[in-house]
Amino acid sequence: MMNVPLNISSMMERAEKYFPKKEVITRTPAGVKRHTYREIGERTRRLASALQKLGVEQGDRVATFAWNSHRHLEAYFGIPGLGAVLHTVNIRLSSEHISYIVNHAEDKVMLVDSDLLPLLENVKDELKTVKAYVVMTDGEVPETSLSPVYSYEELLAEGNPEFEFIKDIDENSAAGICYTSATTGNPKGVVYTHRGIFLHSMALGLVDTAAISEGDRCMAVVPMFHANAWGMPFAATWFGSSQVMPGAQFTPTILAELIESEKITLTAGVPTIWLGLLKELEENNYDTSSLRAVLCGGSAAPAAMIKAFEVKYGIPFLHAYGMTETCPIVTASTLKSYQTDLPEEEKLAIRAKQGLVVPGLEIKVVGQNGEVNWDGEEMGELLIRGPWIANEYYKDERSKEAFRDGWLHTGDVATVDDEGVIKLVDRTKDLIKSGGEWISSVDLENGLMAHDAVFEAAVIAIPHPQWQERPLACVVLHEQYKGKVTKEDIIEFLTPLFAKWWLPDDVVFLDEIPKTSVGKFLKRALRDQLNEHFQIQ
Ligand code: ADP
Repeated sequence: MMNVPLNISSMMERAEKYFPKKEVITRTPAGVKRHTYREIGERTRRLASALQKLGVEQGDRVATFAWNSHRHLEAYFGIPGLGAVLHTVNIRLSSEHISYIVNHAEDKVMLVDSDLLPLLENVKDELKTVKAYVVMTDGEVPETSLSPVYSYEELLAEGNPEFEFIKDIDENSAAGICYTSATTGNPKGVVYTHRGIFLHSMALGLVDTAAISEGDRCMAVVPMFHANAWGMPFAATWFGSSQVMPGAQFTPTILAELIESEKITLTAGVPTIWLGLLKELEENNYDTSSLRAVLCGGSAAPAAMIKAFEVKYGIPFLHAYGMTETCPIVTASTLKSYQTDLPEEEKLAIRAKQGLVVPGLEIKVVGQNGEVNWDGEEMGELLIRGPWIANEYYKDERSKEAFRDGWLHTGDVATVDDEGVIKLVDRTKDLIKSGGEWISSVDLENGLMAHDAVFEAAVIAIPHPQWQERPLACVVLHEQYKGKVTKEDIIEFLTPLFAKWWLPDDVVFLDEIPKTSVGKFLKRALRDQLNEHFQIQ
């Protein structure tokens, strides 16, 4: 058969050709802005030609430093469309990590949202390779100490609306690069090829995966700098779905309003986003009936949260698992046809797991004695391989640890049940090792989250002279329960749910759980915070 190279520019070409009237909608300080795919396609071509004029060549890295917006989408296609590499820089990284990754990727040009300029100005003297900063704004480019500076809109005005996207590209060449947010050490770069993104996008269209289609109105809340917003912008453009971009500094109120006003059908984000939305839905009334799925990944989705969305608000939930290294989708949790008549609680328990591996990938869970039994009990490390899985970290010695024998060693600990469904128990480093046995912090967090008074909960290990480690529950209560719920109440609630030796030794009540730059619980910071009190090493 024809060996046609898989090239992501064909996605934008398809949107321009077959869906020219469909819209990309961005929330801005001046209200909602609408562009058709005809306009976005033309602007994308103008951007590619403008970057070429600035000296960007095939293989060069061009960074974005931006919120989710139509301009960011133009960069998603304009940069690879000229054969260059889209580097989505996480705006929430520390100054040290921002300069590390920009230098490490050797970014030549940076596209920056105007409100984020101060963050780059802080590190401008450290950025060794950047030859031009392009400021994305609807208004005047603000005064800045960055140099040289160009206006995105002025560059586009002078750009070529008929620029031809590069055709003769090797499908295995880089289209993008994204750095993991790194809880320890420097961030690690993951290169995405045209082929990888292409095949991953197809997987997002499968009915048993995310089923993204033309009729969808997609809103990626997950940032476009976090694993390509889980690939949603690529798939949605390709399939002609409408896209809604929540823009800068959104809140749960803004998200709820957008869901109602833009009739969102599919939205994607990490559990902390959905906990915030749930609170908003509890406090105010919104019409969320357009939603056909809330896609949730990045951390385990607590069963109690899934239940609240589905039972209380009739909003279907879809739990999925992935990593920056995997493009990211690896598993999606849907029921098999013969499971649909199971009792509600059983179905919920299945859907709160991470799910079945999506077609195209292979996984195995390897314990001390080889692959684990499919009994839902035996734990082992999750290994993954497939056409959208990275095979190394970009110019990084640490590749050797994670990529071995043709498999990505995820550092995630999982079980597999008799249906082949995986359940993530923990990250290796977060497992609690008590008296030679393992306790899953994720399971305990799930149990805690089922308590009505609990808003957020994280469980960490504390050192113990006899048992080596014991679980400590860190709990944030809903406002109205603060001072009213005790440690004893919490332990009593957990007692029927877990073996006695799993129960946390202590419960601390906090105002907030520290989060990573992409909104996950930052257990390292939690350990540091509680270190003195509990002498955690
Ligand atoms: P970072 O490593 O910067 O947090 P990633 O998004 O690449 O960014 O994180 C991937 C990790 O997130 C996985 O290895 C896993 O530990 C966790 N994760 C992702 N999805 C889920 C999920 N559905 N349930 C539990 N953990 C998840």
